[in-house]
Amino acid sequence: MKIGFMPAAEPISRLIEELGKLPGIGPKSAARLAYYLLRTPETEARALAEAIIAVKERTVLCSSCQTITDSDPCAICTSDERDHSIICVVKEPLDILALERTGRYKGVYHVLHGVLSPMDGIGPEDLKIRDLTRRIESGSVEEVILATNPNLEGEATAMYIQRLLTPLGLKVTRLARGLPVGGDLEYADEVTLTHALESRQAM
Ligand SMILES: [Zn+2]
Repeated sequence: MKIGFMPAAEPISRLIEELGKLPGIGPKSAARLAYYLLRTPETEARALAEAIIAVKERTVLCSSCQTITDSDPCAICTSDERDHSIICVVKEPLDILALERTGRYKGVYHVLHGVLSPMDGIGPEDLKIRDLTRRIESGSVEEVILATNPNLEGEATAMYIQRLLTPLGLKVTRLARGLPVGGDLEYADEVTLTHALESRQAM
């Protein structure tokens, strides 16, 4: 890769290339970050590199809720202070952070790691849906809140899971409207999210 008319030294162009693969980072930002890191003290640069490696090497999926954790089962699944009879189903681990920020939800979670998307070839078997039904069948779950995003794929996924769960005879609810349509849960503010959670409706 060339920076202006001067080719960058190989380690720098390599770093620029890697940074450019991150979401939201274009070639210019990648170059700016690379040169920033070049000027950073070695201890800081090393801390960043080690944090990146640790996130890959020292995390696993929680065998119960499928979130990313450094201890299996995760802190929420093992907590006595959580209501294990309510499971909130989300698309990705980041959604848990958003719901936890409200401080209002005391149940547990289940992470699907995606949503149904026939266009992208993502079917039910690509998501952690079977893990969810298995979990419900072996536990004492009373309510499942479907908290997938309020967009086409999120709605389709919620409908699919609802149909799957109805015969199991438990309460299935969906977050109330009011979340920005087409928006992601992770970007919703706490007040909106709290409202959506407290006004959830039976499907
Ligand atoms: Zn867990």
